[in-house]
Amino acid sequence: MFSDYFLPKKKLYPQLAKGRFRRLKNYLNLVFLSIYAFTPFLRFDRGEHASNQAILIDLPNSKAYFFFIEIWPQEVYYLAAILIILAVALFFITSLFGRIWCGYACFQTVWTDIFIAVERFFQGDRNQRIILDRKNNFNKIWRKTMTHLTWVVISVFTGLIFCSYFTDAFELYKNIFAHKFTYEISATILGWSLGIAGMTYLMAGFAREHVCTFMCPYARFQSAMFDNNTLIISYDEKRGEPRAKHHQGEDFSKRGHCIDCKQCVVVCPTGIDIRNGLQMECIACGLCVDACDDIMKKIGLPKGLIRYDTLSNLLDPQPQKKFKIWRLRTFYYLAILLSVCSLTLYSLANKPIVDISIAQERNPLYVKLSDGGIRNSYNLKITNKTHQLKNFTIRIVEPQQALLKIQNNENYTVSVNAESSFIFKFFVTLSPEIIAQNNESQREIDLEITSEDSIERISIVFIAD
Ligand code: SF4
Ligand code: SF4
Repeated sequence: MFSDYFLPKKKLYPQLAKGRFRRLKNYLNLVFLSIYAFTPFLRFDRGEHASNQAILIDLPNSKAYFFFIEIWPQEVYYLAAILIILAVALFFITSLFGRIWCGYACFQTVWTDIFIAVERFFQGDRNQRIILDRKNNFNKIWRKTMTHLTWVVISVFTGLIFCSYFTDAFELYKNIFAHKFTYEISATILGWSLGIAGMTYLMAGFAREHVCTFMCPYARFQSAMFDNNTLIISYDEKRGEPRAKHHQGEDFSKRGHCIDCKQCVVVCPTGIDIRNGLQMECIACGLCVDACDDIMKKIGLPKGLIRYDTLSNLLDPQPQKKFKIWRLRTFYYLAILLSVCSLTLYSLANKPIVDISIAQERNPLYVKLSDGGIRNSYNLKITNKTHQLKNFTIRIVEPQQALLKIQNNENYTVSVNAESSFIFKFFVTLSPEIIAQNNESQREIDLEITSEDSIERISIVFIAD
């Protein structure tokens, strides 16, 4: 039985917090959603043969575009570099400011916030939602139905927007409005967008804090990036304890400032009590800070009983103590980040615009001709990554007596269309006189492949016996 292994989790009803961090989260949600929704509409001129969508993952043509960067299938290591850069940037920010990525920018947080706002709009704030869930009546049915319908609409739009990163965004929406949806979008993209819509509905509607607590690996190893100077959400125990209920007009000189109102707990999206110390579930969203500051203001005490602070300041509070940005840890994260960024940029700036590879035919390895000469066959693959058609001329540099013949081609020039690869078969023949000059079973043939703006020298092996 599953219930033997997992404790039942209490449903959370996060209350709306009011304050600067809640406002900051609202602004950031708007900014991140706008970036997510409108980025596919950004254009970048790449000439007439390539898409002008600034960020596009073109699955049918196996290419990815990020403004001036174009990634071909054989350059997938750039994606690995981008992932490493993002991971190290995350480590760097976490070592400075704790889990602010989780609290403000993570997809799970942003979408859960929106879904809770919808829930609040139709069902009311925490207490109204708790009361609504206790009864089964028409009021509950229509409010729940409207909540779920709105969630579904948001999820479908999330999936569609995701889809617009894989196909031309303007075309996609034009087709939707022209009722040609199923004809114009490939099954892969449609499947992905429905999958993303389903995941959004499940993760932001139901899984919520469970994703941050049980599913996200980042929550598990984040503490490895913390030190005593990392900003974390902290309850000032020295000031707050001993806690007790507050009675009007009561003096705070012989007790702690925490009045045990539990407002910091009810606003928490992961349902924890930060007064028990920093916990893995805390996503550093700052909503408990807003809730506690509001209470402190009402009872006439200074704000900041719960605040963003460092462990070092909590253990040894000093009015002039400054937040220490430059520590050994932040130095080496920044050094790694700058090194990987520089290497990736250098590599991108010097990326070849033409890829050439030659593979020798193995069956047969060589053919003996009636005059005693020997012929080898090769497959030449040329990838033209530019946006113009290119002509490539092939010639043998050494030994000059070797004969070159391109299959179905009377001259030595081949054309490759813009952004395409083409495979040509060619033959190299050595006459009996050259073969007779030495008995080597293998020789080297030097080729030169030139185009309008590139020149490549390649050595191939010629099998003579
Ligand atoms: S909101 Fe502040 S005063 Fe109220 S329980 Fe939390 S820490 Fe104590
Ligand atoms: S404890 Fe405070 S900062 Fe941490 S998740 Fe809860 S509300 Fe957010």
